Amino acid sequence: MASRAAAGLLTCLLLPGPAVAFGTVDGGGQHREHERITRAALACSGGRDCFEPVTLDQLAGDGRGFGTVGAPDRTEVSIPAAHCDDADFLAGDYPRTREQATTGLTDCVTHLRRRFQEAVRSAGQLLDDGGGVIGAEVRLDTGCRLAAHGEQRAKCTTLESFGRALHGVQDFYAHSSWADEADPARPVAADNPPGMNRRAPSPVLDLRGDGVPDVPRDLATGCFVLQDTVPGSGACAGRVTHAALNKDNGLIDPVTGAVTSAETPRGRVGRNFEKAVTGAVVETRHQWRELRAALRDEYGERRAAAMACALTRDDPVDECGTSGSGRTVALILAGLMLAGLAVLARRYLSLS
Ligand SMILES: [Zn+2]
Repeated sequence: MASRAAAGLLTCLLLPGPAVAFGTVDGGGQHREHERITRAALACSGGRDCFEPVTLDQLAGDGRGFGTVGAPDRTEVSIPAAHCDDADFLAGDYPRTREQATTGLTDCVTHLRRRFQEAVRSAGQLLDDGGGVIGAEVRLDTGCRLAAHGEQRAKCTTLESFGRALHGVQDFYAHSSWADEADPARPVAADNPPGMNRRAPSPVLDLRGDGVPDVPRDLATGCFVLQDTVPGSGACAGRVTHAALNKDNGLIDPVTGAVTSAETPRGRVGRNFEKAVTGAVVETRHQWRELRAALRDEYGERRAAAMACALTRDDPVDECGTSGSGRTVALILAGLMLAGLAVLARRYLSLS
């Protein structure tokens, strides 16, 4: 859920446009929805399986920068797959077939799988051969830049790829009919498509898998063009549009994920905005568990644990264990100290 058009247009300093996904900025109808969802899902609140504050600022954004979860609104504004758009469908006489809609959804899942796998690969650069965290790869004394802007630190590039995957899965709940319901007061039509009213996590978003997702027959996302209207215009004429289906905007508590207002027509139907946000929060936590599982599969239990620690702690060098070579040096130093103490003790005994 991010306001692609709004964010993209704001970024480009063009005329303000319609909000087209969970928002990444304040203004233009957005309230940093991606940041608040990501914080509600992954911030530390007592437990240890969570992202510490400085690290979370890089992933979620901190009001000054987008955070890596907002990166698709900077560099992939016009790529439908990055936001799970253009998988529109309605049973009956409709300009697009179910197969075309399913292809659109598969494009989204394929795109997000690629981002997820990028994160798995980048995480491999966090540790040295002995399994120790490499200080230069995890320091956050300056904020993460995008990889396209020269970022080299493995923690930043891993968080960017994972953040881009999170953006797409969060948008899935805002842009699709997976978790919502149609307006019961109006007939089902392109401006009021059926809702699936399903829970998260969604098996459609199996980012560790490589098969074709199993898509329910009525599942749709909206057709998106910059002139995002109901009824649709231009390439979206006669189709279910992003404007008709999105639940992008409203106020979200960044601690609890509770919603206090819904600001799009579909979001105001029943509890649709709340269900989209809850789905996105649950899916975000699920994808973090999935990433850790993928790291275990790729690198083994011990290295994966150190990687997860390096990705979530603000001071990984101190908190995530020393490398094998570091441990060897520590053992040698301890041995030398013991030997020194033994010599001192012998002298003391011989003097007394
Ligand atoms: Zn988006």
